[in-house]
Amino acid sequence: MNALEIHDLHKTYANGHQALRGIDLEVEQGEFFALLGPNGAGKSTCIGIVSSLVRKTSGEVRIFGDAIDRDPIAAKSHLGVVPQEFNFNIFEPVEEIIANQGGYQGVPPRQVRQRTEQLLRELDLWDKRRVQARELSGGMKRRLMIARALIHRPRLLILDEPTAGVDIELRRSMWDYMRRINEQGTTIILTTHYLEEAEQMCRRVAIIDHGRIVTNDRMKHLLRQLDCETFVLNAREPLGQLPPRIGPFALRRIDEHTLEADLPKPHSLNELMHALDGLGIAVDSLRNKSNRLEELFLRLTGKPLETEQNA
Ligand code: ADP
Repeated sequence: MNALEIHDLHKTYANGHQALRGIDLEVEQGEFFALLGPNGAGKSTCIGIVSSLVRKTSGEVRIFGDAIDRDPIAAKSHLGVVPQEFNFNIFEPVEEIIANQGGYQGVPPRQVRQRTEQLLRELDLWDKRRVQARELSGGMKRRLMIARALIHRPRLLILDEPTAGVDIELRRSMWDYMRRINEQGTTIILTTHYLEEAEQMCRRVAIIDHGRIVTNDRMKHLLRQLDCETFVLNAREPLGQLPPRIGPFALRRIDEHTLEADLPKPHSLNELMHALDGLGIAVDSLRNKSNRLEELFLRLTGKPLETEQNA
């Protein structure tokens, strides 16, 4: 059974912008899945359509087999969403925010009470249950959003950029919690523009760029392609002719004082330095060329990653 099925999904916004250009995606039940991509790629649009907050232009979306347009109530009952922005009433007490959502989702009152207590305890908010949401810290608000999304025990939980503005300690406890509910059977999809975050949590990953899925694979397979890092090195003396490679290291001359070198695993930076020394090149400084998401894009698509800002 697939938790989520998306076929040929298109979205053109009223201003004519084509945010999604034909997306196909299947997420199996039980997965911990990442939808990864740069800012502006279309992740939030996609999640917005799945959660019925954004209207699709065309295409099909099914949640546990129920189509969002033909069986919207059934489709929504399977789904919990934690959006990026806090969208609860800040004057409402914490436990009421969760209980109201339970009522809205049709959970019987006795179960609402039981589950509210359980969720508040698990997410370390029990002491704050009578406090107005506006008095919570940012991290507590984020946990409140998670508790609210889980009150009807959704089979699919979607987290949109869950760690935006979240400190490291909370991030770690949040991930522990997500891992636990995933092990207990909840399918989880998260969107992020951090490869590192997806890497730690997710078994599968789809990468979206310019409204298209550019890859959909096991995280392990994708990361294997990154077993090579590129360094930019500044040479102390002007560079002469460079051989295209020395030993396992490919070299490229960028300008008189700059060269790039590829460092494949398991070779060390030390070995590279020795090799360059053998060519009479003394290195003054170096930096890692790009972040790994950029690197992955380049390898997958043959073109550099474009973001909204530089597209
Ligand atoms: P992501 O979540 O990957 O950062 P979004 O789905 O938010 O990407 O945005 C995809 C593209 O659609 C971007 O170019 C964005 O500017 C555009 N966009 C998003 N919402 C709207 C809207 N309401 N009207 C017009 N364009 C939009």
